[in-house]
Formats: sequence, C-alpha cells, structure tokens
Amino acid sequence: MTESSITPDVTQQTAAALVSRSFAYDADVLPLAYDGTALTVAVATQNGELVERIRQITRKEIRTVAMPVREIRDALKLVYPAATTRDADSLAAQTLDEIFAEAIRTYASDVHIEPMVDRAGRVRLDIDGVLHHDRTLDGGLFERVVSLVKVRASMNTGESRVPQDGRLCVTFDGRSFDVRASSIPVGGLEKLVLRFLQRFDLVPDLEQLGMASDVLARYQRALRRPGSFCVVAGPTGSGKSTTAYASLQTLRIDRANVCSVEEPIECRMPGIAQIAVNEKAGVTFPVALRALLRQNPHQLFIGELRDADTVSIAMQASLTGISLVTTLHARDALRVPARLAELGANRATLASSLTLAVSQRLVRTLCRRCKIKTSVSSQALAVGRRYGCAPSADACDAHGCEACAFSGFQGRIGIFEILEVKPDLAAAIERGETPAQLRTIAFAAGYRPMIVDALRHVASGATSEGEILRHVAYEDAE
Ligand SMILES: [Zn+2]
Repeated sequence: MTESSITPDVTQQTAAALVSRSFAYDADVLPLAYDGTALTVAVATQNGELVERIRQITRKEIRTVAMPVREIRDALKLVYPAATTRDADSLAAQTLDEIFAEAIRTYASDVHIEPMVDRAGRVRLDIDGVLHHDRTLDGGLFERVVSLVKVRASMNTGESRVPQDGRLCVTFDGRSFDVRASSIPVGGLEKLVLRFLQRFDLVPDLEQLGMASDVLARYQRALRRPGSFCVVAGPTGSGKSTTAYASLQTLRIDRANVCSVEEPIECRMPGIAQIAVNEKAGVTFPVALRALLRQNPHQLFIGELRDADTVSIAMQASLTGISLVTTLHARDALRVPARLAELGANRATLASSLTLAVSQRLVRTLCRRCKIKTSVSSQALAVGRRYGCAPSADACDAHGCEACAFSGFQGRIGIFEILEVKPDLAAAIERGETPAQLRTIAFAAGYRPMIVDALRHVASGATSEGEILRHVAYEDAE
C-alpha cells in the first residue's frame, strides 16, 4: 500500500465501475482513479483489513489516500448519482448491474431476488452455500428489477403465475457469464433465482478438487478404463457437477468422441458434443442418448440418472465398452446400488457394469486470517485414531474478521468417499444386499466413509469439526 495524492478526473468513472455503489457507501470508500493496474481510493482511516477487502473484490492493486469521512460521503453522491435523478427503468438496470457485479466479485453461485412485505423485495447472494443479504429493493424497484430480468432472460413478462426458466448473458469487466434464471410464483409475486453457470476455463482439474492422493489415483484409474461406469453421488449443492465436469476434462482427448446429455448444460465445454434435454420438444434423456449412441461415442456424460430407461441405456452402453460418467441423487456411495435398483436397474446388469461410485460434500474452509486454535471432541479423536487421521494440535475453529465478512469461513473444499465395485461387492449387489451389508464388504476392501476424509481436513486446520458435522456424522464410521 502506497500513499499518493491524486486529483479526481475522468478515470474516476472507470474506478467507480470497479467498486459497487453499496460497498462504497457501506465502507465509506471513494474510488478516485484507475490507471489500468492500480486502483486509487480515498478512505477515512488507514485500515489494513479494509484495503485487503477492496483488493479482494476488485482484484486490483490498491492505493489509498486519506480523506475526511464527510468529504467522502459528499463525493460519493457525485460519483454514484442519487436514484431520484434517474428514471425508474435506468435505475432498475443500474441496480441489476450492481447486483451482478457484486455477485461476480464475491464468487456467489446464485442470486436470490424475492418479495418481502409492502411491495419491497430483497436480494441475497449464495456464497459458499450460505445466503448473504445484499440489498433491499424498495416497492416499485423490486418489480422493475424482476421484470427486467425476465426480459433479458427471454421469459414471458406477461405471465407471473406459472414457474418459468430462461437464460441470459452477463458481461462484467470484459468477461461474460452465462446465467440461468428461474421464477416461481410466491404470494401473487415472483421469486427469482439466478444461477451462474460454470465456465469451462474455470472447471478445476481433478487434482484440484481436494481428493486424498490414494482416492484420486483410484478414481482416475477407474475413469480411464474402457467401459467404466462411474457415478458421482450427492445431494443438490454437493459439488457433484463440478466433479463430473472435472472428470470429463480428464477424458477430453483430441482423438476421442466425447458426448453428453444434460439438463441443463451447466458448462459449455469445447470439443464435447453436448445435447440439452428439452422435454417439450420430445428430447428426453433416453431419446438423446439413443441418438448419441448411434454416433459411436467413446466417452459419455449423462447429466443425471433419474429414470429407468436412462439407467438401462447407461448400463448397456458401458457393457459395450463406452466409458460413462454420470451423477445421481444419493446420500453416499454405499447407497448408489440401492438407489439405481429403485430406479429400475436390473441387479445382475448393475453388478457387472458399475465400476465405482464417488460421493461428496462441500465443506467451508476456515478463513486463514482469523481462525483460532481449538481442541476436538473425544469422538473425533476416537474415529481419527481408528483410521490414522487423528485431529492434532493444528485443529482450528472459526472466529470472524472483515476479510471473511465475520463468518469465519472463506471458500470450500470437497470431502469424498469412493466405493470400488470389486468381485465380492458385485456379487453382493447382485444379491440385492442392503447398504449396511455392502459396507461390511467394502470396509474389508479399503472403503473409508466421508467422515474420515473430512477429519483429515480438520486435522490440518483447513476446516472445523463443527463445519464437517453439518454434513457428515460419526455414526457413518462405526
Ligand atoms: Zn476471517
């Protein structure tokens, strides 16, 4: 941080575009200039945490100038003109731009825009799976923002009584983002959820997901085997799409014909023929899959297994040598065979086709700036001792500081378990044994439940015991 004296000039508009209006007002930060590398801002007091926060949200080098808070507030009114001076529509457009800018800066996955009382609405950002209040939209502004989103997402603005889906593109700082919009009727008004779809250049490599090295090695080996059938299981929001795309990234090789059927396509990947399911047009998962199979694919990604036809086609495809990755709603890897059987899978076919099930959750990682040392429960120690991952003196807990918006957490990491289907397990699947019976066999072959993987991250101080217990239980290790 260096201090410099600078007179506000035309570059101030560029500077103001980097800092949202709400943040500038809340933190008393006045953007002054941006020279292409460094952003100069006026602040009332020299505060390292604040500067770090500005650096994080703008991702620019920050220079500060001291200025009395009263002068900062007066100048902010000029830099971000007051609402009353603009007409209603352009205010709605400006507000929506600010909401998107804030969502992108904070790496939010979703934006929730929902009605409150007296025609007002609120905006919340889903950051690492937790909703954070962003702003309140007064009366008319809420309705105008909702209708603007619907226009941009090509939704029917005259219809507010039935759920709708749409898609829009948001440009920010020279980058463009695909956003999926959905609306549902709520008490005569509408609630919108805007989800940022993944960009393929941001899809992590498998190595970056946080798998333990032996789990990663076994998973990669299974993925690359011809005719492998790998299922990524977990509830909504567990990060299974990211793992599926990271797996596809691994399989994406120039000479292979890699195809996918998805609903919706969450991430467009160059070099992969992706088909979007469109029920209205008759393009269901089975219809799209049968069409793709006629084109002789080497690798196939099926967005989700959720009906008998799709499951049956998937198993047959793998038995003919096509490598398959798919996702499934199931609590853990041990429940994958039972869940597929419920969906109508023939047990014998399933036993001979299923290669591996991986299950996962995303746990929040502790803010490095403010985490504090702590001790863990006797249960953690007991399970840890049994599996050789006992939480050590490095165990930490959340505290909270400005850098993490006082949540104590920043970012997330995956916790995993994998179930490899070896001959003993395949025989048990064919006999229709329960998840508990499968577990006994799997344990003998090296299966370790997710709680054990999670304790590894507690031991290293990356996350806290309280955080992992939001997702997994010690009973799973017994
Ligand atoms: Zn913190």
